[in-house]
Amino acid sequence: TESLETRDAEIFDAIRKELGRQRDEIELIASENITSAAVMEAQGSVMTNKYAEGYPGRRYYGGCQFVDIAENLAIERAKHLFNCGFANVQPNSGSQANQGVFTALLQPGDTILGMSLDAGGHLTHGAKPNQSGKWFNAIQYGVRESDLEIDYDQIAALAAEHQPKMIIAGGSAIPRIIDFARMREIADSVGAYLLVDMAHFAGLVASEHYPSPFPHAHVATTTTHKTLRGPRGGMILTDDETIAKKVNSAIFPGIQGGPLMHVIAGKAVAFGEALRPEFKDYQTQVIKNAQALADQLMQGGLDIVTGGTDTHLMLVDLRPKGVKGNATEKALGRAHITCNKNGIPFDTEKPMITSGIRLGSPAGTTRGFTEAEFRQIGTWITEVVDGLAANGEDGNATVEDKVKAEVLELCGRFPIYPNL
Ligand code: PLP
Repeated sequence: TESLETRDAEIFDAIRKELGRQRDEIELIASENITSAAVMEAQGSVMTNKYAEGYPGRRYYGGCQFVDIAENLAIERAKHLFNCGFANVQPNSGSQANQGVFTALLQPGDTILGMSLDAGGHLTHGAKPNQSGKWFNAIQYGVRESDLEIDYDQIAALAAEHQPKMIIAGGSAIPRIIDFARMREIADSVGAYLLVDMAHFAGLVASEHYPSPFPHAHVATTTTHKTLRGPRGGMILTDDETIAKKVNSAIFPGIQGGPLMHVIAGKAVAFGEALRPEFKDYQTQVIKNAQALADQLMQGGLDIVTGGTDTHLMLVDLRPKGVKGNATEKALGRAHITCNKNGIPFDTEKPMITSGIRLGSPAGTTRGFTEAEFRQIGTWITEVVDGLAANGEDGNATVEDKVKAEVLELCGRFPIYPNL
């Protein structure tokens, strides 16, 4: 009966402060979003108490009849949303979804071919410090120097040379649409599985703004909390029954124990939201907003990797202004604009410094921002960056304070979680 506030004032206080931060800052981290109160209600529910090892209808524990309803709804809605025959909604994260696919289809020591982190790939696609880079012979592809787009000829050449058992498409900083048909052609040429990791753009696939990985991918993974706007978590999809069986055994008992049933309930709610017509309108606006922001930044003298974006995200090349990603992330933070430093392709700066920042429109669009607000944000970013360019790492405090006041005013006009 005791409320969080009286039971644990420290955590209560940290959560209130986090709510305040989210309300009073413009969130431009491309992998984040603002999930609905309904998703959070499901996630904060009694389903957190339930052990449900196994799958609906075949559990290793009693009392699973109601969590089964939640998991079946999540599965059916996911299949509908992505137009495929199978979904495993149990992965606790995007990383565990990928690990699940590897466990299902690979042996330690097998060769995999994924996009390098430096070029826009994800850690779990074979990066050295990640398990995927340690347990597999991980070969990495990148982008062309000429236009910074995925180098399909290089992928084909590396595949022919190394004969990977799996090729991975997708990443965390790819602003343009990936050619899945071409990737499958390359995979077929060497008899490799094609895994599409659509973590970033899954919401855009669901709304048909981005081509579906199917029928090209043998298997697809995603997170549920980025453009898809659900609770933090992962998911695995396929149309291949043999792969489906292997995936289920790989997730449980392969790499996970009891699934997070409260999170699965939240996933079901989010997938239900994504099946509504408004979700299409939302994603239309996500892309328009990203393009407006990219255009405004280029007008302000910044470079955008590949000259723009087809998606929800962009990579800003700061070199025209002579400033670094780490200093820019900090300066924008002082002005209540949140983003992350990010290496740009062929970056010569270290990963903790970088020559770029990555920006995304999903969270701002959820708040209700349209192109006008994103153009305004682009102007503020340019002002803050120009302050850094003129004054070094400390930036221009007068400009940063002015932008912060204007950001607070804008956030006040687009409130989030009014009932919390
Ligand atoms: N795959 C891609 C392409 C991602 O961008 C991410 C998250 O950043 C992941 C996988 C991993 O997801 P998680 O952070 O939930 O483990």
